[in-house]
Amino acid sequence: MQEPVAISQPDTFIEHYERKIHSQKQLIELSKALNSNLDLRSLIDSILNVSIAQSRCLQAGIFLVPEIDYHDLVLNENSVGFEIDNPDEFIITYRSDFIKLLAEYPTLLTLAEIKNIAAATDHSSLAQVDYRSAIQTLSRMGNDLLLIPLKAKGRINGVLVMGPKSDGEQYLVEEKAFLSDLVSLAAIAVENARLYELATVDMMTKLKIHHFFQTRLREEMESARESGKPLSLLMTDIDHFKKFNDTYGHQIGDLVLKEVAKLLINTATGKDIAARYGGEEFSLIAPGRNLDAARAIAEKYRERIESLSIKNPSKKGDKILKVTVSVGVATFDPKTDLENKHLIERTDQALYAAKHAGRNRVEVK
Ligand code: GH3
Ligand code: MG
Ligand code: MG
Repeated sequence: MQEPVAISQPDTFIEHYERKIHSQKQLIELSKALNSNLDLRSLIDSILNVSIAQSRCLQAGIFLVPEIDYHDLVLNENSVGFEIDNPDEFIITYRSDFIKLLAEYPTLLTLAEIKNIAAATDHSSLAQVDYRSAIQTLSRMGNDLLLIPLKAKGRINGVLVMGPKSDGEQYLVEEKAFLSDLVSLAAIAVENARLYELATVDMMTKLKIHHFFQTRLREEMESARESGKPLSLLMTDIDHFKKFNDTYGHQIGDLVLKEVAKLLINTATGKDIAARYGGEEFSLIAPGRNLDAARAIAEKYRERIESLSIKNPSKKGDKILKVTVSVGVATFDPKTDLENKHLIERTDQALYAAKHAGRNRVEVK
């Protein structure tokens, strides 16, 4: 929306356009940063920080679809300034009239405006129940909120929530316009990150897929060769999993596989890359870890799986499901490891040795 500018006041006129140019420059810089970033976490940090700095408010949070096969919007854990213990409990149902209203309304809405709209409409349908529940969820974050929907490909894929401005004033038209522009860029970046995840993550286990593993291993080997920094590889395999499937069925097997994968993702830190090598064989690329450090993380993972108790949802067999894993570890040797397969082969040999030595153990090569 164009603001009227008084031509008779040259200073204000120039200041107005200087501010506008400054905002545009910021948007261009941000656009570059967002488009070169496929890591959702740091993307969210950038979006929140810029929104806060630009509108001089102290609170910002963002609702997004948290996982690839999830549909509702959940408050991201990286919120700034809100006092929230369990962001997972802040959920907006995707198929609600609330989302429809945000998508179709021509201007940005405050929570107060949304409440007024709700009060004026019939609330007998199920969608209205979701509408009210969205309002209740947002009210728990505060009363004075501005909501900015993220739209990509004509569809809402998130909602940015801004708290009140630090000076207690209402958001200016130009601040709202900036936030709208910023969020249009953010929506595309979030969509790109989602598509990237969809293309590189195994839906069932949430581990990286085999092709991604091979590509990243090649890159990490190149990088370790150049920098001289250590790099190690772990291969894990569930013990006697065929028998487990035979006893409990494939579906319970899948359930266990997911838990075993989740623990690998949670055990990974820093630059570690957890991947599904194939079937029930998982791997961890561990840049920066030498053989001892890699053995230590392998041992930690093995112990965590040993202590893992999974509730059996079926009536068949034991109430608590237990499995163990064997882990092989090898470290990158720039002299002999010219291709991925050389390092993988040694790691596999270590895994074989762990199986041979009785399973539920770590062996290094
Ligand atoms: P070992 O201790 O020697 O590893 O014995 P094992 O029975 O686990 O042998 P192996 O690793 O060769 O067997 C892999 C089994 O894992 C075979 C297959 O039934 C099971 N498996 C592989 N992928 C999946 C999956 O996606 N879901 C389920 N439920 N089972 C799987
Ligand atoms: Mg196995
Ligand atoms: Mg196997």
